Amino acid sequence: MKKFIAIGLALAVLLLAQVAALAEAPCAYFDEHGDHDWEQGDVQKPTCTTDGYYELKCKVCGVTKTETSEPAMGHDWQETGSKEESTCTQEGWAEVKCANCGEVSKMTLPLAPHKWEVKSETKSTCAVKGSKVEECSVCKQTRTTESNLLPHVYSAWTVSKQATDHSQGRRERTCTVCGNKETEYFYPDGTLMRGGKRGDEVQALQIKLVAMGFLHDVADGIFGKNTEQAVKQLQLAEGLHSDGIAWPQTLAAVDARYQRTVSSVTPAPTAAVPTGPVSAPRRCTPSPSRTRPPAPMCSSPR
Ligand SMILES: [Zn+2]
Ligand SMILES: [Zn+2]
Ligand SMILES: [Zn+2]
Ligand SMILES: [Zn+2]
Repeated sequence: MKKFIAIGLALAVLLLAQVAALAEAPCAYFDEHGDHDWEQGDVQKPTCTTDGYYELKCKVCGVTKTETSEPAMGHDWQETGSKEESTCTQEGWAEVKCANCGEVSKMTLPLAPHKWEVKSETKSTCAVKGSKVEECSVCKQTRTTESNLLPHVYSAWTVSKQATDHSQGRRERTCTVCGNKETEYFYPDGTLMRGGKRGDEVQALQIKLVAMGFLHDVADGIFGKNTEQAVKQLQLAEGLHSDGIAWPQTLAAVDARYQRTVSSVTPAPTAAVPTGPVSAPRRCTPSPSRTRPPAPMCSSPR
């Protein structure tokens, strides 16, 4: 009896295994080719809102799957002529109908612009900003626009204090429209300073400052911190007010000192004196005294 039960169990296990295998739907074609033997069904065309598709079915095992053919087309809205125009305060609408599927809908129309009319306007001067008041003829809304001040209309400068070769002058001018006064301090012509004019004049000064040992930098025509420092040192050496500004007075002192230097120095291989041979073979030190009044210069043999 026990033997029969054992055989019966074994049979049951075998049966179960076969049922399980059938449920997995084995496909001989798939086993051999790695894919089913698909057959394509009818293609369903896309509509306005749904994708087109077709069905694939395996000729061997009957498995199916669905593939998309084309995306949904979207509605093709056409105005029907039934509409309400927008105003500047109320959005309008237009009835539309889809040329493909016949669906009817309403589209919102954007607000119409205001119809501005100028109510009052004042022009700007150099003292008072002008303004323009406009009103919408439809909704009566108003808006005000300011316009920018105009520039002053100045008379020519009147010098109230003359500049000297080592000090600023002062000048004034008045707006002929509003009477606004402007005062300005100005440097005498030819003054060179840090952050000021660049170019040949600055470079000529730098070349002399380098040659006399005040400036240890390239003469690049830009009046920077080093040039300013060199001018200060030279002013100290010349007994001038040491402010680093190359006033006409300072420039004259530079020229005079430079003339004395080039006429008394023998050009050495290391000396940076950009000049031709000098007659006097005497040697002297042109380096400036940093704190003392001008160092005595070598006297020319001439
Ligand atoms: Zn198959
Ligand atoms: Zn449609
Ligand atoms: Zn309006
Ligand atoms: Zn003015």
